[in-house]
Amino acid sequence: MEGFIAVSKHSGLGPRQFDLDRCVHCGLCLNACPTYRELGVEMDSPRGRIYQMVQVANGAPISESYREHIDLCLACRGCESACPSGVRYGRMVEDARAEIEANTKRGWMARRVRHFVFHRLLQSRALLSIAGTLLYLSEISGLKALGRGLGQMKLLGRLGDLQQLAPSADPPFFFSQIGKTFPAEGERRHRVAFLAGCIANVSFARLNEATVRVLQRNGCEVVIPAGQGCCGALHLHSGLRGEARKLACRNIDAMLDGKFDAIITNAAGCGSTLKEYGELLEDLPQYAEKAQRFSALMRDVTEFLASIELNPKLGRVEATVTYQDSCHLAHGQRVRKAPRQLLQSIPGLVFQEMPGADLCCGSAGVYNVVQNEMAMQILQRKMESVNGTKAQIVATANPGCMIQLQAGVRLHGREQRVMHVVELLDLAYKNYWATNAHE
Ligand code: SF4
Ligand code: SF4
Repeated sequence: MEGFIAVSKHSGLGPRQFDLDRCVHCGLCLNACPTYRELGVEMDSPRGRIYQMVQVANGAPISESYREHIDLCLACRGCESACPSGVRYGRMVEDARAEIEANTKRGWMARRVRHFVFHRLLQSRALLSIAGTLLYLSEISGLKALGRGLGQMKLLGRLGDLQQLAPSADPPFFFSQIGKTFPAEGERRHRVAFLAGCIANVSFARLNEATVRVLQRNGCEVVIPAGQGCCGALHLHSGLRGEARKLACRNIDAMLDGKFDAIITNAAGCGSTLKEYGELLEDLPQYAEKAQRFSALMRDVTEFLASIELNPKLGRVEATVTYQDSCHLAHGQRVRKAPRQLLQSIPGLVFQEMPGADLCCGSAGVYNVVQNEMAMQILQRKMESVNGTKAQIVATANPGCMIQLQAGVRLHGREQRVMHVVELLDLAYKNYWATNAHE
């Protein structure tokens, strides 16, 4: 394939030459990079990381230091938005991680944990349900609250911060809805598929239900295709490209032939990977064309709702709301206006933009767990911006960001509520019907 040249001497998996060549070392991306802003170190900036990728491509060893600088990158793609040369940094860092993964050996324990999480847990509804149930039991027994309390008192060190980031279980889990079809409210204007995610089925079941309701209220027949599964985004960001490709094929088989007007996700992190299936599978002859069609149908739920005629029967939500851009929506998918437009369409809601809304909150998939110290530093800075707006609600468009921001509120906030944009719309529709029940 023309231009599709892996230049690394290590495995043939590294960043592609034409991607590396695009960087003209201007440095305009530096200020958009959260790790550079925290550390002020060139090697932890986009330009510095690209420089190191070039060295490795030219035969330098994949050293511990190289791995650390690449690992410390959030893959937030803030640098892509800032770059005037169109550097595809997200793809480069994924390629660099795939190469590191193939050429270095992790410790026995790390390998076992990674294998379990990426190859078993995220791909199994049964295991996710068991994990969710155990989580729920720890919540109702008070164990989790105890851990969080001790964490807030700084009595557990780094473990305390990790406690803050543990997702909650939200039974009944959304798995029971997979395979069902939900009719449009009123006239059917669209037929859409909804991708429910993996962990989100357990931790964000109510958000998934709200998403389906809002789509129904907007004339959508919503199908939750039975064969769907994890999108592979976490795998791809962790260097497991082969596994991500397998998961992509599975989702394409499960959804492409359903005659949908759009395939919808409420998770921006998943959305950017789903929109890039075309690229991920471009060299697989039996899937290349299908993957292109699949990606062309993908829409973030905010993007989709802003593109159709929105059902105007929205009740009042009297609150000041600020919006945190999800990196993979703003930088990965270039969707910035849609969520703001939807929020501003809700009567009574006062929208307050925060400075640096499109700077990463530190969530970044599993980054906040594996690079916890940096993630918490970034989060503290984010919460200073949030607090400055005096907003009562922080809205965002990605479940991972919601978990991070909820931890931010507990640790540094002012009791703000963290909500997905679609949950606010759902609330507005409910409020409308509460006051117009006679209609
Ligand atoms: S990534 Fe883009 S903005 Fe950053 S140094 Fe390279 S060309 Fe300049
Ligand atoms: S992806 Fe984010 S953290 Fe990584 S280099 Fe770019 S701006 Fe910095």
